[in-house]
Amino acid sequence: MFPQTSSPSKAYPWRLILFPGIILLIIWIVYNIPNLEQGDPSRADFLYTFVTPQREEQTDYDVTAYRLFYRFQFDDIRNPTLRASVAIDFLSRVPGLKRVVLDFNSSLKVDSVGGDAYRFRLKDRKLFLDLRKRLDEKETGSVVVYIRGWPKRYHPWIVGMGYEVVMPAPDFHEVPWVYTLNPPYGAQTWFPCKDDPRDKADSVIVTAVVPDTLQVVSNGVLVEMKSLPPRRLRYTWKTTYPIATYLIALNVGQFRTYTFSYSDSLIHDLPIQFYVFPEDTPYVEDIRKQIFRMMHFFNRYLIPYPFAREKYAMIRYNSSGGMENQTITGIRLFRPHRERLYAHELAHQWTGNLVTNASFHESYLNEGLATYLTALYWRHQYGDSAFAAYLNRLRASAHGKLFVQNTVIPDSVYFMNAVYYKGALLFHAIHQVIGEERFAAFLRRLLQELAFDAVSTRQLQSLLSRLYPYDWEAFFQQWVYSPGLPANDFSASQ
Ligand SMILES: [Zn+2]
Repeated sequence: MFPQTSSPSKAYPWRLILFPGIILLIIWIVYNIPNLEQGDPSRADFLYTFVTPQREEQTDYDVTAYRLFYRFQFDDIRNPTLRASVAIDFLSRVPGLKRVVLDFNSSLKVDSVGGDAYRFRLKDRKLFLDLRKRLDEKETGSVVVYIRGWPKRYHPWIVGMGYEVVMPAPDFHEVPWVYTLNPPYGAQTWFPCKDDPRDKADSVIVTAVVPDTLQVVSNGVLVEMKSLPPRRLRYTWKTTYPIATYLIALNVGQFRTYTFSYSDSLIHDLPIQFYVFPEDTPYVEDIRKQIFRMMHFFNRYLIPYPFAREKYAMIRYNSSGGMENQTITGIRLFRPHRERLYAHELAHQWTGNLVTNASFHESYLNEGLATYLTALYWRHQYGDSAFAAYLNRLRASAHGKLFVQNTVIPDSVYFMNAVYYKGALLFHAIHQVIGEERFAAFLRRLLQELAFDAVSTRQLQSLLSRLYPYDWEAFFQQWVYSPGLPANDFSASQ
């Protein structure tokens, strides 16, 4: 209760508190508006900070296929739009599955759902789809999500879906250019999916309709190209090798296409393709030679190219240096002096794509190994001193912990000094411990045993322990979970 007998003179001290209080409140609101806005993806420049962890119930089903159908509209070339349907085939892993939860951290709008789903709800960047009927264990289902708009960028240099208008010589006409770069969690910015590298789809079909002056390039092989009125083309690409969502790619643009056929005693007639710009033409032959000799080296040193029924291609995109999308590597620059980068991306087709990291906490497993395989290719191509010089460069900049705590921030998942440099040196240390022949045999064994599957540090350690007696527990503790570079004396102790 408030005193009734208040006089004007007694009210004065209240005003003294109230007025400065209101002013402080206004200052607080003004200063905090940017922070309040951060909680709203529609106001943010990039979507990566909004990734929410996987939910337990997302393991209730296995994805068997993604069928993406995109219609691109470039009439207003600076403001492209798309409409898409994303069909997801899956297998229930539990009795009585009644809903499917997908990852969808996106600015695209969900219009409706179909197939076995009859309604949807979006909450915390997850898409909850209720199924028409409960599915028993091992029963299959298929849901469709209809989306439209244009996806906001995932991260400053990991775009999710990127877009630009280019004016290639000699015509200098404005041309739309769409490309994708997903890892770790950028796939869900342009299509709803189960964005978990452990759950590979057995097949993916990417269909896109574009103006007939443009091409569409994706994973696997081109199975159909159809003219549609008025002046449109529909491209359908299909891959039938298991694939993680972060390796699914969609490119649209005007490319000059070069196709070569690669054969050796292990694989025959593998198409090697370059999708490049006219300015890249003078470098095609040099880079073809590089890719051929890398393919020859990796086929022998490892196991034959794992996607031999389809292709290996490189395509110009405009994001970070290179991205090893399965069978279709994105490259920023097409120049022979990027040979090491091209070797790194090709090596990923084995480490990363054939055998995929179980989580992004251990990105060194494929980034470190791809970097080390590049060093081995360098030794094969340019000799021991070039190899030693390369390793010394890695040693000079290697530091940090290999195990990545926060996988939501792509910059820590792809921290060069730890994940790439120290990661490569870890594989070099294993090489030194077990020796030349055994190291190659161990890599082959790893790729064969875990082909089209996922790998963790535990699995790597248990495979090594099975094959070669050594204190691998101490080794991995030092290398993976401790900062800095361990002393290089592993070959001496047992
Ligand atoms: Zn890499």
